[in-house]
Amino acid sequence: MSDLYRLLPGEMDALVTGLGVARYRADQLLQALYHSFPARVDDITLLPVGLRERLQAEGYRTGAATEVHRVVSDDGQTTKLLLRMDGGTLIETVLMQYAEEGESHPRSTVCVSTQAGCAMGCVFCATGQMGFERNLHAEEVVAQVVHVARLLAARGQHVTNVVFMGMGEPLANYAETMRAVRLLTHPRAFGLAQRSITISTVGVIHGIERLAEEGMQVGLAISLHAPNDALRRQLVPTAAPGSVRALVKAGKRYFERTGRRVTFEYALIAGVNDTPELARELATLLRGSQSHVNLIPVNPTSGEFRRPPRRQVLAFERILRDGGVTCTVRVEKGTEISAACGQLRTTAAAEADATAPGAAAPVSPRSGPSQTPSPAR
Ligand code: SAH
Ligand code: SF4
Repeated sequence: MSDLYRLLPGEMDALVTGLGVARYRADQLLQALYHSFPARVDDITLLPVGLRERLQAEGYRTGAATEVHRVVSDDGQTTKLLLRMDGGTLIETVLMQYAEEGESHPRSTVCVSTQAGCAMGCVFCATGQMGFERNLHAEEVVAQVVHVARLLAARGQHVTNVVFMGMGEPLANYAETMRAVRLLTHPRAFGLAQRSITISTVGVIHGIERLAEEGMQVGLAISLHAPNDALRRQLVPTAAPGSVRALVKAGKRYFERTGRRVTFEYALIAGVNDTPELARELATLLRGSQSHVNLIPVNPTSGEFRRPPRRQVLAFERILRDGGVTCTVRVEKGTEISAACGQLRTTAAAEADATAPGAAAPVSPRSGPSQTPSPAR
């Protein structure tokens, strides 16, 4: 099965002309794919029936994702989806919405997964504890955004931002991640501004270096979590020796090459990396680096990690600011629906176990069955 959402516009032109059809049909096809989000090739009624049949005969489909589970936070601002991909692979996608002052539409950010599971093993991350299953293809990343775009279109809203902060390590799946970024930003495809995309990495240095040379304006977030190697390697067991300094250097280089300030993410864990001493060490490390710190009070997983009390988080933030480092504390969204990376799949699997045998789709207290029609294959 080939997927039309894999093809970059130039490849779509080649596909159409290769079938002996005029090139403007490729424009129509792209228009339909990225504005109407058709579930099936046959739904692309802009195209003549004959061409639709040819595409189907060639084995083309529109989108790989089937929604199997949906959970909405109490305030309605966070929607977490469990999507099934080819081979039964389950991945998570999250929609986060924020009302913006003076704007009639909310900011609607889609958080996409790039891998099923993850090989990096971060101790506080539910995905890391699952281990690695497989890389996702570019069209499976695009399918996540298109799935949410379809859901939003029904409400007269649209996707405004995409963050690569779901399951997996985007830069360990570099080629497919970049193809997805190109599809999401190409003016003839999804058409988001490059600046509306952020890639979060645990710190794959050669991937950051490559990304800096792409000539793109994509935002970069580096998950640092500690100001020194000894502590970082406790939290990110696969981190190489010397990774802290190497990442600060790679971040500076990214800024020089792209003009975009890098964000260092720091998951704050009570009693582990939240002390005033560590805040001072972090401030010294990052001072003058033109970067920004995003403090994320950790979302408790099944592990033993807890978020620090609010005053401790604010004290950490103040030390960084006083030390000359710009800093924000991430607004917690969707905690009660397990919105941290990998948590929904873990919860759903546990609940499926608890209700097996013969259990249908896993259902958690605040969820109902999927309410959108699943796109056909
Ligand atoms: N693999 C990439 C991107 C996916 S994780 C990375 O690690 O950057 C996206 C972000 O979620 C990372 O900053 C990660 O550290 C953070 N994260 C993972 N588990 C978390 C948890 N339980 N609580 C808070 N943040 C978490
Ligand atoms: Fe992988 Fe990121 Fe989770 Fe670490 S935090 S295990 S790199 S997904």
